[in-house]
Amino acid sequence: MKNVNITINGIELQVPAGTTVLDAAKEIGVHIPTLCHMNLEEFGVVNKVASCRVCVVEVQGRAALAPSCAETVYEGMVIRTDTIKAINARRNNLELLLSNHPFECLTCTKNLECELQALAQELNIREIHAKGEKMNYELDTSSKSIIKDPNKCIMCRRCETMCNDVQTVGVLSGLNRGFDAVVGSAFHLDLADTSCTYCGQCVAVCPTAALTEKNDLPHVWRALARESEHVVVQVAPAVRVAIGEMFGMEPGSISTGKIATALRRLGFDGVFDTDFAADLTIMEEASELVHRIQHGGTLPMLTSCCPAWVKFFEHQFPDMLDIPSTCKSPQVMMGSIAKTYYAEKVGIPAKHMKVVSIMPCVAKKAEAARPELSKEEHLNVDYVLSTREFGHMIKEAGIDFANLEDSEFDSLMGESTGAGVIFGTTGGVIEAATRTAYEWITGETLEKIDFEQLRGLEGIREAKVQIGDLELNIGIAHGLGNARKLLEAIRAGEASFHAIEIMACPGGCIGGGGQPYHHGDQDVLLKRQKAIYDIDKSMPRRKSHENPMIKKLYDDYLGEPYGKKAHELLHTTYTPREKI
Ligand code: SF4
Ligand code: SF4
Ligand code: SF4
Repeated sequence: MKNVNITINGIELQVPAGTTVLDAAKEIGVHIPTLCHMNLEEFGVVNKVASCRVCVVEVQGRAALAPSCAETVYEGMVIRTDTIKAINARRNNLELLLSNHPFECLTCTKNLECELQALAQELNIREIHAKGEKMNYELDTSSKSIIKDPNKCIMCRRCETMCNDVQTVGVLSGLNRGFDAVVGSAFHLDLADTSCTYCGQCVAVCPTAALTEKNDLPHVWRALARESEHVVVQVAPAVRVAIGEMFGMEPGSISTGKIATALRRLGFDGVFDTDFAADLTIMEEASELVHRIQHGGTLPMLTSCCPAWVKFFEHQFPDMLDIPSTCKSPQVMMGSIAKTYYAEKVGIPAKHMKVVSIMPCVAKKAEAARPELSKEEHLNVDYVLSTREFGHMIKEAGIDFANLEDSEFDSLMGESTGAGVIFGTTGGVIEAATRTAYEWITGETLEKIDFEQLRGLEGIREAKVQIGDLELNIGIAHGLGNARKLLEAIRAGEASFHAIEIMACPGGCIGGGGQPYHHGDQDVLLKRQKAIYDIDKSMPRRKSHENPMIKKLYDDYLGEPYGKKAHELLHTTYTPREKI
């Protein structure tokens, strides 16, 4: 693209035509504050509503200030970001936003993580001159995953862009006018009555506490305090490469051993690894794939370990419910095995046991409550904490996480392989399944374990893997909008795959809605992803079917993979749902 010459704060520079003033200023290290702005490069989506006006700058020759996030440069443009006029306008605009905001910072879920609060600090707001009418909306606590507090909404519309343009779910839009303007669901329907998938990506991008995850921490503290209860915990793969960020560690720091130590200090009776259940998932999912290929079953087979994706296809593709794998997710498989096999091993009835999950995900909270995933008399998973809630739990307990010594998960359901850990990133589930399917179909040892063609952060990827005589066609998508494109192509008969992996969140679970806030920084996702593959490389075993504790589970309890008992405990059904 043609370059243009511009001047920012007296500094001359050349940038491609079409660059925004905001991005041009970044090139020379000039910081302009933003609030509603959101650039999701990996999805080619920018929130350009320019509604907050805190990024305004002066442009020579114009009386009105320009929003730098939406204003593009032109030849000879002269910009000043640091004049008293621009600074005062930013402060005034922020004061207007604050004028009808409930001042609950000390007790707010987002205290010290709120972008509105941080901006008030950055712009040195010490008094609010405008007096706005306060909103008085009821909180939406209808779902198991997300709390919506419209009173804290500043109409930045990031959530709307995320839900509509990236996830293509279309649940959120602007409602009302003036001081009552908020983003919400049509007719103010409760979130639980809509097609919301609970992916939590709106929570991940909301700058305030207008959208947050449901806090399940008090339940977990109470369960740990009850002597009569045996409380076990499992930790998902993506948690270990992100939790450190809440304790000043670099993104991508690997904290597996510290997590196990922290959980024991917190008083959990069994400390298990969801990676073990991911290996178990592969035993079932690879068996199902091989079975479908060899017996003329329905293809492609879609992975089913992401609950937001499951809810998405139930609402959006109810005519295609025969193609997802029937496997439960690793979290639910772990709960199911904990309350049967483990309960028998330790001689504790399931009714005296609580299973807690620590997940990068807010959708897992709603998943745990799905009736079809529970045994008649009890839930398989009782409480789900996000990575963020777990970080707060560690802080509440006064544990110096960054300096904890390492320890191991308990062996019975804590042993895992590299295949289990790569579930934490996009492409990982299908790579893990391919490692096992390859050896089962060919009967040969897979020497080249890394399937590089399945990796990366591109939204939709297609790859072919040669397995003996079979050329396996694999599709991968992350983000529900990308998933929709793949599914629509399949429905129209324009695409043909054997297996497809879908994850709802950008980057897969490393970018989950319950992870420490990364504020759209793709470098953070890349570092977390690299750490996942580093863990995989460091493992002595990297194929799920080589996990000795998984073999023992089948020998002692389940029998054959994809057999009768496995079906009873590890497989599920789906429900067609309306699009609302
Ligand atoms: S959780 Fe996901 S689907 Fe639901 S409103 Fe938020 S972005 Fe949309
Ligand atoms: S709910 Fe949050 S992300 Fe959505 S418009 Fe309001 S403040 Fe912005
Ligand atoms: S991609 Fe992972 S974190 Fe995101 S909704 Fe799915 S399971 Fe949850």
